[in-house]
Amino acid sequence: MEKILEVEDLHVTFTTYGGTVQAVRGVSFDLHKGETLAIVGESGCGKSVTSNAIMRLIPSPPGKITKGSVKFKGKDLTKVSEKKMRSIRGVDISMVFQDPMTALNPTLTIGTQLTEGIKEHQNLSNSEAEKKALQMLELVGIPNPDERMKQYPHQFSGGMRQRIVIAIALICQPELLIADEPTTALDVTIQAQILELFDEIQQATGVSIILITHDLGVVAKVADRIAVMYAGKIIETGTKRDIFYKTEHPYTKGLLSSVPRLDQRGSELTSIEGTPPDLFAPPEGCPFAARCEFAMVVCNKMYPDETSLSDEHRVHCWLQDERAKKLQAASSK
Ligand code: SF4
Repeated sequence: MEKILEVEDLHVTFTTYGGTVQAVRGVSFDLHKGETLAIVGESGCGKSVTSNAIMRLIPSPPGKITKGSVKFKGKDLTKVSEKKMRSIRGVDISMVFQDPMTALNPTLTIGTQLTEGIKEHQNLSNSEAEKKALQMLELVGIPNPDERMKQYPHQFSGGMRQRIVIAIALICQPELLIADEPTTALDVTIQAQILELFDEIQQATGVSIILITHDLGVVAKVADRIAVMYAGKIIETGTKRDIFYKTEHPYTKGLLSSVPRLDQRGSELTSIEGTPPDLFAPPEGCPFAARCEFAMVVCNKMYPDETSLSDEHRVHCWLQDERAKKLQAASSK
């Protein structure tokens, strides 16, 4: 399948009075046409900074992409001018943010907000833009689109507002949609509807999706592949099956075991002891070492290389590295 996005060794820092935060530290992944990749991890792991870096939305200063490349259809977005980037955002790559209320302008009708982007980018007449907006509202499941176009955001429920935000993101038919925690601000039943909507939209339009989330339930529903992030690095990637059923990294195992289960009512929730490392001065070795029950001497000294467990399943953990396995075996003799 054709690769639409290739992120290679991406580094992003934020310079503050207290020092430099190394928010993203060598992230690499790719995304194929029509595929959904979920990037998961706890707050502060760098997943939203990664998606903002793809869109070149890192505020500078204090933020800076210090190294690496983000190739969209072969073109390195870290090297294009801001003017060129403005013509890519919303047209080739669109973004859906967490809170639909802050993403919409409360003083403008839905119709105006839907049509302003397409009029600017595709040079359409008012009636052509309106026709397109009506089609998009139908695609995202808004009933009576003719009437709804004249209404303001406060006249819609939270779920409906998120559908409208998705319609705005899709109206210029982008090839890549980045959804940053798109269901976090919604209640559970609406979350399920929005996730189904992503699925339907992908089948109807063939758009590639990057889904940023901390919610493994969301991931289980919609992702084709999953990248797990920790302390600014991707520590495990694989298909949904690899990550849920052949989990190898101790952090991913911890994340999965901390998901509440309906079949284990009454038992205590599991949590990962400890806290993530300070990204002002990240450790040289594995950033999970201080919380890992399997940590070895080498874990604190060197960051583990990537080990390929299959075509898609890759992990950064010394437990999977043949060199560490041999050392362990030798020291236990
Ligand atoms: Fe644990 Fe070592 Fe693997 Fe890190 S590299 S997750 S510390 S075993």
